[in-house]
Amino acid sequence: MKFYLLLFLFLILMIAVYFTGISPIWYVVNLFLFVGVVVAGVTTIKFNLFLTAQSSIKNTNNEVALTFDDGPDTELTPQVLDLLREYNAKATFFCIGSKLKDNEANVKRIVAEGHAIGNHTYEHSNTFPIWSVKKMMLSIQKTDMLIKDITGLDCVLFRPPFGVTNNLIASAVKQLGKVAIGWNLRTMDTYKSSDKVIATIKKKLLPGDIVLFHDTNPNILVELKETLEYCKIKKMNPIALV
Ligand SMILES: [Zn+2]
Repeated sequence: MKFYLLLFLFLILMIAVYFTGISPIWYVVNLFLFVGVVVAGVTTIKFNLFLTAQSSIKNTNNEVALTFDDGPDTELTPQVLDLLREYNAKATFFCIGSKLKDNEANVKRIVAEGHAIGNHTYEHSNTFPIWSVKKMMLSIQKTDMLIKDITGLDCVLFRPPFGVTNNLIASAVKQLGKVAIGWNLRTMDTYKSSDKVIATIKKKLLPGDIVLFHDTNPNILVELKETLEYCKIKKMNPIALV
């Protein structure tokens, strides 16, 4: 794993500073660099520091992957599905387990209309990254079982809450045989205005991108419509992850 290589390099450099007798300031510089890279790795899933996540797709036919986190939402998810159907677009929904039971019809519809479903933990807890591996696995398995009950499908895809990764999450993902999915285009749709989200899409979206949206964001419909229009103009093909 890249993290252990980084840790090894950090220790080697610390030892090198000790034996070469250069200024002790280099201990601090090395420590800051190490902590900086680790923080970047924890918060940026596409760096693959702790686990290998898929953060882009092959774009052999101008494909893009639109992904929707934190649903299903009783009000918004059906409207998101309507829009996707209107444009003949496919997408992937990373669902929170605790929301599945109240949205069984939406979950069935996601699958029936050719979209993919991913696991986004049962609770989507802020403290998920510091849970024990066992507790993480139970949360993921509980969600998988609900998806199986409702759709009959074995869910393979997994996206950690907030895209935060560390060694514990990497261990849970590995033990459960999940395929971790990140993104390489974050729209910041949960706190930026629709104008800004749409501007980001038009400036940055390229074939091969995995885009992060939320089907709980009240502005998702206008943002998605503009995105789908943009894809149509640029002849990009929104597909579901498999
Ligand atoms: Zn989330």
